[in-house]
Amino acid sequence: MLAGYAVHVEQSRGRRIPEPPHPYRNDFQRDRDRVIHARAFRRLEAKTQVFTRRYSDHFRNRLTHTIEVSQISRTIAGALGLNVDLAEALALVHDIGHPPFGHAGEKALDAAMRTQGLFFDHNLHALRIVEDFEQRYAAFRGLNLTFEVREGIIKHSRDYSADEHPELAEYLLDQRPPLEAQLIDLTDEIAYNTADLDDGYEAHLLSLEQIRAGVPVFERFFREVEDLYPDAADKLKFNEAIKRMLNRLVGDLIANTQSQVNRAGIRTLDDVRSHASRLTSFSREVEAERRQAKDFLYENLYFSSTLEPEKDAAERIISELFAFWMENPKALPTGYQEKAQEESLPRVICDYIAGMTDNFIFEQHERHCG
Ligand code: MG
Repeated sequence: MLAGYAVHVEQSRGRRIPEPPHPYRNDFQRDRDRVIHARAFRRLEAKTQVFTRRYSDHFRNRLTHTIEVSQISRTIAGALGLNVDLAEALALVHDIGHPPFGHAGEKALDAAMRTQGLFFDHNLHALRIVEDFEQRYAAFRGLNLTFEVREGIIKHSRDYSADEHPELAEYLLDQRPPLEAQLIDLTDEIAYNTADLDDGYEAHLLSLEQIRAGVPVFERFFREVEDLYPDAADKLKFNEAIKRMLNRLVGDLIANTQSQVNRAGIRTLDDVRSHASRLTSFSREVEAERRQAKDFLYENLYFSSTLEPEKDAAERIISELFAFWMENPKALPTGYQEKAQEESLPRVICDYIAGMTDNFIFEQHERHCG
């Protein structure tokens, strides 16, 4: 069932601290389960995906987004003969390093760190969470995940240069990640491009007319659906068109990746790793549609004037709290004060803020800067 170019769990490079095998779960299944049982994973429930203010209880948060990415990743990995357990573990962990308040929060935290000559990167932060911050097990610090899951955390969405990141040398930075990791970035795109149209429409920030005019692939499917179900309610026709759009993206990613793998003569995992470029991608036609949908969302939803005030508030809260703790390190919880003996104060404050949920950071801001 597994393709020759998939990651085979028996060939895993293993964990930092070797553990005896489990009687009925393989190592990638165990990693998936460790992620699900992590505190940082549960906190995703109260972290912004797109909307901080709760327009409705139906909207995605970072946890439900993560579950959607995991569902889509399993489907694609299965269809390509890849390791579904590994793809699932990578999908579930892919956003675990995100700070509160979505991308506005990430930007503000990075800006605060840059005033100190440092920076914030959510993939690197995710690695710190699973290697260090999660304390659940008596036998080791962190989650003691397999090499392949840690490698995927770092390499799923971008390449890190070995010169800039000597600390990541063990992750084979001169090689491509396995296909299971490569597909996560595109699965993430499929999930949020379709889901954000849905939430934006539900929030009345995007109208049906606007989406039909701005997203050609949606319009094509919407017309198709109108012919089939002329009497259905708009929202149901909308759902049906989104579903077809999602299917098109998924089907195209599977078919196009498979044909790239075949064309390049990829047979083994080593072939994937040593190939000059990543092998997962959409066809040119669907890539253009994806781009249109994404541009539409940026213009009309992410950068909309309605969401502007909450993004401004997010940036203000993070930068004020960061400055407050820089000036008053004694106001940090004891554990973080102790950490600041070993690591730089800005990094410790950044770690503390990055781990917070939206609710918790609102409370902290009220308490210290209100
Ligand atoms: Mg994501």
